[in-house]
Amino acid sequence: MRPQLVIVGAGPRGTGLLERIAANAPELYAGSGLDIHLVDPHPPGGGRIWRAAQSPLLWMNSHAEDVTMFTDGTVQMAGPVREGPTLHEWARLDGRTFADRQLQGRYLSWVYERAVAELPPGVTVHHHPRRALRVSGSREGRQQVWLEGRPRPLLADLVVLALGHLDSEPDPDLAEPAAYAREHGLVHLPPDFTADSDLSPLKAGEPVLVRGFGLAFVDLMVLLTEGRGGRYEGDTYVPSGREPVLYVGSRRGVPYHAKIGYDWTGPRPALPRFLGPPEVEALLARPGGFDFRRDVWPLVEKELGFAHYHRLFTAHAERTAMTWADFEERYAAAADPVETAALVATAVPDPADRLDLAALDHPLDGVRYASHEEFQEGLRGYVESDLSRRHDPAHSADLGVFLGLLSVYGQLVRLGNIGPWWHGFFSYLASGPPGPRLRQLLALSRAGILRFVGADMTVTAEDGVFRASSPTVPGHSVEARALVEARLPEPTVGRARDTLLRELHAEGAAETPGGLLRVDPADGRILDGAGRPHPRRFALGPFTDARTPGVFTRPRTGGPAFRQNDATARAALAFLSASPVKEFAR
Ligand SMILES: Cc1cc2nc3c(=O)[nH]c(=O)nc-3n(C[C@H](O)[C@H](O)[C@H](O)COP(=O)(O)OP(=O)(O)OC[C@H]3O[C@@H](n4cnc5c(N)ncnc54)[C@H](O)[C@@H]3O)c2cc1C
Repeated sequence: MRPQLVIVGAGPRGTGLLERIAANAPELYAGSGLDIHLVDPHPPGGGRIWRAAQSPLLWMNSHAEDVTMFTDGTVQMAGPVREGPTLHEWARLDGRTFADRQLQGRYLSWVYERAVAELPPGVTVHHHPRRALRVSGSREGRQQVWLEGRPRPLLADLVVLALGHLDSEPDPDLAEPAAYAREHGLVHLPPDFTADSDLSPLKAGEPVLVRGFGLAFVDLMVLLTEGRGGRYEGDTYVPSGREPVLYVGSRRGVPYHAKIGYDWTGPRPALPRFLGPPEVEALLARPGGFDFRRDVWPLVEKELGFAHYHRLFTAHAERTAMTWADFEERYAAAADPVETAALVATAVPDPADRLDLAALDHPLDGVRYASHEEFQEGLRGYVESDLSRRHDPAHSADLGVFLGLLSVYGQLVRLGNIGPWWHGFFSYLASGPPGPRLRQLLALSRAGILRFVGADMTVTAEDGVFRASSPTVPGHSVEARALVEARLPEPTVGRARDTLLRELHAEGAAETPGGLLRVDPADGRILDGAGRPHPRRFALGPFTDARTPGVFTRPRTGGPAFRQNDATARAALAFLSASPVKEFAR
């Protein structure tokens, strides 16, 4: 029998892995033939999230020019670079377009077809449009991958799991609102992929409380407004009359920052500078392990500050009171945040030009409004000024911070589990909605279809209804018969609906305290409780502790996901070509 490789999950990650297998096979895999089995109920390329069968109203939240599936010289990897078009080059779009998800799905299918065509002769891909239910087999021998509706398993010399975003059982703290909704005939929608949710219980004209102001909220907003027949005439929303009234709040109480709407010009900050491989090595080598707040965050702050001030001093020197060379030297030498703050106070006269990450993270901290209506006005003002700031190159230090965030993310991936806070902070600052979505949000607010609740929103269930309030508007609350948790399910291996992962977990595959599957950062091999890599099982993607900021890499940014795909592809090919097939199908 020829060697058999099974890849479960044929979304962007499975496709990216296939691209790397095609790139590396000529060097690492000669002659002996190989069957690659792709298992996914959705079509390969786009997979579930980017499939053609979904609403055309849903967009990507990346500019088309920032999405590539191809490596370039900035990726530090052992395999060969194979260049290819970004989404905007492939689709002949303006680089600043926010493509819809269906179009991205077509790009991904094309990438998939190209990868298949580039495989050496003798390497064959088979797509199985089914769910994989279970992986069995000893560490030493062939694995069996059991598929839904098939009595016999696929036999695999190696298995790679690229399962993506997982459906999971709701968090235990959501059991209460769910039970209350059942008892009182209310609606409670738990965290879900909004595109797949049944939104029909949310009735026209009725108030709906929405917990979460991130990207899942934006999808919900779109599907319940334009998706129900409303339309925009310029900056005015014309309702269809079928929309509910959305009351949205969250911990921060504000939407994610708008995407930056201009390009980088001039010299780039030399990143990484204060948080690079040596610092990561030092953190990993700490005898008692590291604590994110105590050991990692100061390095993050220093790196983001460096990126911010580099841009301010080089592009807006008239707003600084020192040369960049002097500032840089003293910034590098500053021993602690107090010394750094004193330096910044001397060198940057306007406090508005200084980087204040805590204020950015909690913009409504201590802010109080006398009435709900005044807060609506106030938050619209906040969103409008965020939109204009993010499209105004006078604030290009923000773009410096953005580059800093990308660099930091790439480094922190190597640390493994650092908890969910950083991922949320990154998304809030660097991965917010497209500007046009925020303009729609403003129009919906003016039309009274969208209402803001405030920061630290609490929801109680009493008197047969859900009730939301927030310290931002003291004394005000809103009642509703429906509550939506607008966020993705937590990627928790132990609570995954997927039997495959739950069984791996039950069999001893290790998870982090945050519930992510532990993998070897070197090549993606799944680790057991003793930290031993499984010789024949690999995992890549957002359910692992090597997850990256999103699968789509911006061109020329070193893409950590590409590095991981390359390492896994090479490890897999080396293993498959070294181990002659000894077992036969039973
Ligand atoms: C709604 C949404 C929008 C996003 N938008 C963006 C964006 O605009 N820009 C960006 O950079 N990132 C975005 N992301 C981030 C996201 O991480 C990536 O875009 C990408 O989809 C992740 O790729 P993946 O292959 O790891 O996971 P997925 O896309 O989730 O693909 C995993 C595949 O595995 C299959 N699968 C899972 N379990 C099994 C099983 N047991 N058997 C068989 N098949 C299985 C699924 O059917 C699916 O097709 C978005 C994520 C979501 C959820």
